[in-house]
Amino acid sequence: MRRLRRVKIIATLGPASVDKAVVTGLAVAGADVFRINMSHTDHAGLGNYVRMIREIEVELGRAIGVLVDLQGPKLRIGAFAEGSAHLRKGDSFVFDSDPTPGDATRVRLPHPEILAALKVDDTILIDDGKVRLHVVEATPESSRAVVDVAGRLSNRKGVSLPETDIPITSMTSKDRADLEAALAEGVDWVAISFVQRPEDVVEVKKLTQGRALVMAKIEKPQAIARLEEVIEVSDALMVARGDLGVEVPLEKVPGLQKRINRSARRLGKPVVVATQMLESMILSPLPTRAEVSDVATAVFEGADAIMLSAESAAGQYPREAVATMSRIAEEVETDTVYRTIINAQRADAPNPTPADAIAAAARDVAQTLGAKAICAWTHSGATALRIARERPVSPVVALTPISDTARRLALVWGVHAVQTRDASDVEDMVQRACEHARIEGFGGAKGANDRIVIVAGMPFGSPGATNMIRIALVGEKKP
Ligand code: PGA
Ligand code: MN
Repeated sequence: MRRLRRVKIIATLGPASVDKAVVTGLAVAGADVFRINMSHTDHAGLGNYVRMIREIEVELGRAIGVLVDLQGPKLRIGAFAEGSAHLRKGDSFVFDSDPTPGDATRVRLPHPEILAALKVDDTILIDDGKVRLHVVEATPESSRAVVDVAGRLSNRKGVSLPETDIPITSMTSKDRADLEAALAEGVDWVAISFVQRPEDVVEVKKLTQGRALVMAKIEKPQAIARLEEVIEVSDALMVARGDLGVEVPLEKVPGLQKRINRSARRLGKPVVVATQMLESMILSPLPTRAEVSDVATAVFEGADAIMLSAESAAGQYPREAVATMSRIAEEVETDTVYRTIINAQRADAPNPTPADAIAAAARDVAQTLGAKAICAWTHSGATALRIARERPVSPVVALTPISDTARRLALVWGVHAVQTRDASDVEDMVQRACEHARIEGFGGAKGANDRIVIVAGMPFGSPGATNMIRIALVGEKKP
């Protein structure tokens, strides 16, 4: 199952995609990674999804990635005596710890550490920013705020505090339990929500111990302020535009998306663009022009993956949404300006290693020869990542003996991962790279004299020793 595009597609699973036939359809239509959102999934549901994906993986003969998204500290107000309350502009409104149901003058904010952290002038956004207030009086137990944007508050609506440094980590006790369950299921990627600082990511890495890779969701201004440091400690990033667009003015999101994309790519970390990409397809079989343009923008930016949320999890057209995304990506990647844009964004690795030098060289050699693929023998996947970082014209075929590596690489730009036993010597390394390229559909047409570029490390099996490039003729496919 060879894809005709470099960018990868992540499809979120949910009520619209619990059936195996539907999920198989999503994988065939183009989903490379499935996201399981722990805000809406219990442990039994998680187990069912993972089992189903592993079966589909065997049936389709292709490594599929599983990304578990942890809910994180989603803050919520308490309940109201009458279910809701209308706040008018200029009204005074108090947030406190009193469990008595709220009214038009006050409500409980059931997070004592947040009440203690609020400062005068901090902005309080409720229900994705629909109601906006600013703090005028703050004590450790309560805060009085004035309404700037009027609206109705109802029970347990979400709270965003873009200007407040929240003195808690991004892992709640629910997140810890969900993480344990996800690791027990052997998932490939774990995403952390509402990351504020690099320490939030380091904390999760201590818990995962390499059993899954860790993705930081960038959806808070505090994480943007320390972006480079957050990227350094993360295995991948997500531009989580849903909450990001609440926490910063919406018009700042496109620029931030570009910045996050470029910084992540420079540092060789995969980056995912997420949320509302084909939102109208929740209810309609066709997207809007603006949505098509939005997906195209992310592809032109060279993002590693683009993501569907409710479109595939709860919409009426999950398969069409994946197929539409895939078609847009294929079209963009064959556009004549695509290469120019991708090449213009290229940046040297900040602290180049021999592997970076080999990756850059492999890219050049492959381009000069019009090679059908760059085949990389890799254990951890690091070599394939370094080559993908170069955004070569030739697709990257990652050959790895480790199934976890193949699955993790499902998220990475341009990488087609194949699980196969380790090469025993140079001869074997060359021969079997050619054989896999042929079988997987990368060259081998009769009379074409197709070439591939092979990257490996000697001695075999020692990680981090990528130091060699070979050019080989693929050989003709047997009829
Ligand atoms: P969510 O994350 O769907 O878990 O909120 C994505 C986003 O905020 O964009
Ligand atoms: Mn979010």
